[in-house]
Amino acid sequence: LTENNARHVWHPMAHPADMLANLPRIIKAASGVEITDIDGKTVLDGVGGLWNVNLGYSCDPIKQAIRDQLEELPYYSAFRGTTNPPLIELSYELAEWFKEDGLSRSFFTSGGSDSVETCLRLARQYHKVNGQPERTKFVALKKGYHGTHFGGASVNGNANNRRNYEPLLPGVSHLAAPYGYRNPFGTDDPAEIAAAIGRQFEDEIAFQGADTIAAFIMEPVLGAGGIMVPHETFMPLMRAICDKNGILLIADEVITAFGRTGAWTGSRLWGTRPDLMSTAKAITNGYYPFGAVMIADKIAEAFEANKNTVGAIGHGYTYSGHPVGAAAALATLKETKRLNVAANAGARGNELLAGLNWLKEKHELIGDVRGKGLMCALELVTDRATKTGAPKDMVQRLQDAAYDAGVMVRTSGSNVIISPPLVITTADVDRILAALETGLTAAAG
Ligand code: PMP
Repeated sequence: LTENNARHVWHPMAHPADMLANLPRIIKAASGVEITDIDGKTVLDGVGGLWNVNLGYSCDPIKQAIRDQLEELPYYSAFRGTTNPPLIELSYELAEWFKEDGLSRSFFTSGGSDSVETCLRLARQYHKVNGQPERTKFVALKKGYHGTHFGGASVNGNANNRRNYEPLLPGVSHLAAPYGYRNPFGTDDPAEIAAAIGRQFEDEIAFQGADTIAAFIMEPVLGAGGIMVPHETFMPLMRAICDKNGILLIADEVITAFGRTGAWTGSRLWGTRPDLMSTAKAITNGYYPFGAVMIADKIAEAFEANKNTVGAIGHGYTYSGHPVGAAAALATLKETKRLNVAANAGARGNELLAGLNWLKEKHELIGDVRGKGLMCALELVTDRATKTGAPKDMVQRLQDAAYDAGVMVRTSGSNVIISPPLVITTADVDRILAALETGLTAAAG
């Protein structure tokens, strides 16, 4: 199996030649918050799949909904002229779910990258519908992660997702990442950093011309770039600058939309209403590839009032609104609400963060601890004074030793990402911290 995997499977975000030297783990079963590999080793999934399995692996109502829907109607999507019952029900439930965020219409996709692409395309089209066809540019954040389609990669704020695929979309500019550990502003004060990036944004707008910019995109808490929690003033400030300049605000909530930060959405966490919101991942608890873009009334009404071809949506997928995905999402929303996982994410997240900070006291290797709810990271450094990121083999040693000690974590550069299912207990938090401690000792040695 491992040989065949190495010969025939290309892994995302990995070097194809690495697969024989560095064999991937073959996960063959999962239950509760644990996964079991092909050697029979069972570990706690400290990353909830890819921050999508919020409710764990034993969610029977979702599995049953998928089976039932496969029997009833295995395929017929929301492509022009057709739709299906679970999808209609889901769009109603989503409008309820996101009411507080001011989002009432949904456009369905097959995953996060599709959702981001949809937001970028709808943002440009909105301005055309609105009689401002020259608004085509995007502004984003360094360290942001927005998937790997060409549009998403263009707004991505990490070089490794971009450099081999250029030229990307023209007219994209990136503001500084909103975090204190390393920033170009010479301050550790998060409020000052937020204000400084606001000034960068205004400067960029003046330079580009406000009437050329379609949208600003951000994750309310930056995820794959290494977990950066902006100051509470940051997203409202960006909203205000967008409003002043006729620029749309896209919240990329592929990770944050269903409770991971301790709030039901990241935008709500910061008291901000976006114009477009990308969601995916936890919308089906990882059980089915699915996503939804949520659309604010202002945007929706402009499209709906425009009877010309410019108002027609020339965008969508074979699987937009797949009935099995819709049924999975409906069951997921119900379970997500019933289990009130946002509250647990907040409470367990505080315990986890306190534990990570305690580890930082003991282990020189930890340069920084960041997190909100159950999206946390440790940044490993070889020198706390210079903040030099730890090399790959060191971070890998931590990951391997933590796995041997019973917990799966992931790495991203010099960051160790911890993003377990939102249903974990305090005992699970302790298990994660104990395994990380073992991993830190192994990495240092
Ligand atoms: N946006 C964000 C914020 C993400 O974290 C991700 C995935 N990690 C994506 C977009 C892309 O989603 P997908 O991998 O499902 O295409």
